[in-house]
Amino acid sequence: FAPWKDPDAQPLIQFRNVTKRFGDFTAIDDLTVDIYAREFFALLGPSGCGKTTLMRMLGGFETPTEGTILLDGQDIGPVPPNRRAVNMMFQSYALFPHLTVRENIAFGLKRDKLPKDRIDARVEEMLRLVQLQKFASRKPHQISGGQRQRVALARSLAKAPKLLLLDEPLGALDKKLRTETQFELMEIQEKTGTTFVIVTHDQEEAMTVASRIAVMDHGRMVQVDTPDRIYETPNTTYVADFIGDVNLIEGNAAAHHEDGKVEIHWREGEPPIVGTPMGEVPDGTRCTFAIRPEKVAISKDHPEGSSNIVHGKVLDIAYLGNMSTYHVELPTGVIIKAQLANNRRIARRNITWEDEVWLSWTETAGVVLTG
Ligand code: ATP
Repeated sequence: FAPWKDPDAQPLIQFRNVTKRFGDFTAIDDLTVDIYAREFFALLGPSGCGKTTLMRMLGGFETPTEGTILLDGQDIGPVPPNRRAVNMMFQSYALFPHLTVRENIAFGLKRDKLPKDRIDARVEEMLRLVQLQKFASRKPHQISGGQRQRVALARSLAKAPKLLLLDEPLGALDKKLRTETQFELMEIQEKTGTTFVIVTHDQEEAMTVASRIAVMDHGRMVQVDTPDRIYETPNTTYVADFIGDVNLIEGNAAAHHEDGKVEIHWREGEPPIVGTPMGEVPDGTRCTFAIRPEKVAISKDHPEGSSNIVHGKVLDIAYLGNMSTYHVELPTGVIIKAQLANNRRIARRNITWEDEVWLSWTETAGVVLTG
């Protein structure tokens, strides 16, 4: 489901020139962005870039210094947190230890004084959604961490909010459980049709769960895009470097080919690199060539037909099980990483430390960035 690709899709949340300052420090800087209904939207960025501040403004715990936030077309500025169709799930889950799973899920509905039969029906529905029917009578300390996380999720969805804010929702889980839970989270989001906005430090997690990712830096969204576009076509060196592993090579744009590709001069004695420009890259500008290690081919024999070919020596090999990363030093001292899947065919190539190798990549494999 990709509402942002549908021209008729209605945005649920609209930030319009939103700035948040604490004293003279700007935590959110003139932000304008739409988040669509049914989206799973991830905020990604280093500590202090403004993710929590953004969430707190959506939740109603902070007010913008300037600008407007609309929910379903209505300015939510004056609406207090408990009157917003927005709920927030914290990393700590904040479950009541003395209440059962069922009572925890029912808590908000009871506070709203809904009739008992409606509360019971809704709680059953939520227990089914997170598959905890069998654990309904247990207390939080009698269930596992993953199950507690699902209780918290059921509780935050019980009142059917239009928007659920998730601040590091899986941060307390170990790696394996975390990966499993990511898929559950996606399934539940899809089933309920609730818009999710998630803050995570884990870029793989954002890539897995999100329909779109906003990469943030100093209170700004540097790029807002689908995970594959963020990974394949980052708009700045910052984004390329923040998501996944990347080789960054600085140089000067020297010439444009007829098909729009840019030729970069980067080192005396090395052939120019050709890549796809992201935006305008006038001849003569300083730029960065960015290429993912898995797009760099490595071989002992001179490759045929590729236009980007360099020669070097294997410095280091990191064995990662399903793949290995080769650090190759060129005669100029530049180090380029190449990553290869460890299937049997590749194992037979038998590339090892100190080997003289060729690295190559196609003209479409890397991007040229000026920012
Ligand atoms: P983290 O990943 O570490 O949680 P973050 O991206 O969520 O970071 P925020 O918590 O939004 O970052 O903070 C953004 C900036 O605003 C930080 O530099 C922080 O120190 C500052 N800030 C946040 N809240 C306040 C406040 N109440 N008073 C003053 N400064 C604040």
